[in-house]
Amino acid sequence: MKPVLIIGGGISGVTTAVEIAEVGKEVILIEKEPYMGGNVVKFNNYFPKLCPPTCGLEINFRRIKQNPRIKYYSSTEVQEFSGVKGDFKVKLKSTPQYVKNNCTACGKCVEACPEERPDDFNYGFTKTKAIYLPHEMAFPYKFNIDDKYCKKESCNKCVEVCEYNAIDLSAKEEIIDIEVSSIVVASGWNSYDASKIENLNYSTSKNILTNVEFERFIASNGVGENKILRPSDNSEPKKIAFVQCAGSRDENHLPYCSAICCSASLKHALTIQELYPKSEIKIFYIDMRVAGRNEDFLVKVQENKNIELVKGKVGKISETENNNLILEAEDILSGKKIKYEAEMVVLATGIMPSDINLNLNKDQNNFITDLQNDGIIPVACSRKPMDVSSSVKDATAAALKAIQ
Ligand SMILES: Cc1cc2nc3c(=O)[nH]c(=O)nc-3n(C[C@H](O)[C@H](O)[C@H](O)COP(=O)(O)OP(=O)(O)OC[C@H]3O[C@@H](n4cnc5c(N)ncnc54)[C@H](O)[C@@H]3O)c2cc1C
Repeated sequence: MKPVLIIGGGISGVTTAVEIAEVGKEVILIEKEPYMGGNVVKFNNYFPKLCPPTCGLEINFRRIKQNPRIKYYSSTEVQEFSGVKGDFKVKLKSTPQYVKNNCTACGKCVEACPEERPDDFNYGFTKTKAIYLPHEMAFPYKFNIDDKYCKKESCNKCVEVCEYNAIDLSAKEEIIDIEVSSIVVASGWNSYDASKIENLNYSTSKNILTNVEFERFIASNGVGENKILRPSDNSEPKKIAFVQCAGSRDENHLPYCSAICCSASLKHALTIQELYPKSEIKIFYIDMRVAGRNEDFLVKVQENKNIELVKGKVGKISETENNNLILEAEDILSGKKIKYEAEMVVLATGIMPSDINLNLNKDQNNFITDLQNDGIIPVACSRKPMDVSSSVKDATAAALKAIQ
């Protein structure tokens, strides 16, 4: 049997790869970013057990490294494909690999590099040098050079200090031709663009973050390193509000429910309370949708006197002179209009399927649909929103479909 191609190295792609390889079949796993792990690797922790993301991913990375049946390529995408189930011809395109595999990640190049770039791992809230390690648990554990900011041979400082000759600034992009039997699409999700929800003023107010950005604000290896810092003045906010369904279940934005945002905000509220027990948190929601073990979070939140759940959709957020935020909503249960002043706001934006530039079958919301027997198998969040444990189960099912 020809190998199976897996597009996307998030939790679902990585799990599918390991499941296929461990029953003896060949796998080619590609990831467009320089590191595997997808969205989960950027989280502070993940429910239901609230373990750090590396705790689940690291075991899988080790299984990938040890398994000769898995070939993996980071910074790589599909350029084009043709063929039918059992016999696909695929062209892969890898961005130039300026840093070679003999890089030991000693870090001397970083000290020498004079250029800076916004750190996309922290959504641009911090900076790295133009040569950088994506994050401290990155897999592959290798430095990377950002084309847009590196001055290449005209600077050359990183090359001069590298004792291992591991940097080649003249590297070119690479095209790799492969033949595969089936294609698993594990391309996952992106966050809804909050700037489109004009009444919530995300683009004009620095202290309004999205939920994915907030993950980096509470992560111990994130923006504030165990402190939540307001972007406007680096102060530690004590009054934080969450706006659920920011753009979700709304015909003008995302008509569907993303299934995980309520649990994510409950998780966030409890983390804030751990960091700042005296903080005041309000969660504005339409319906609180949590299921299974995540109901425990809801109970914990309901029992916490510093967290208030307000049933009401936020209609407007405006900014005060000192960069606080005024949220306006109707409290449905009391029938009263309320205005609440918070020091920071987190928008629980929903998830959208990643924009994958291939001619695949999609539903009205751009999620990839499974055509029985066409050899292209969408998995996890590329086909509908779901949490990690459902993604892992879906990945096992995709592995079975692919090897059949
Ligand atoms: C704020 C927030 C908090 C959350 N917290 C939790 C939590 O605590 N617990 C939980 O269970 N779930 C949580 N989730 C849900 C969780 O993020 C998803 O279940 C999980 O990310 C699904 O994994 P995935 O592999 O399908 O997708 P992703 O994590 O999106 O991974 C997809 C991968 O594919 C890559 N890719 C995309 N397009 C291409 C392409 N064309 N070529 C190559 N590679 C490509 C991407 O770069 C990415 O690495 C949360 C979601 C949100 C929004």
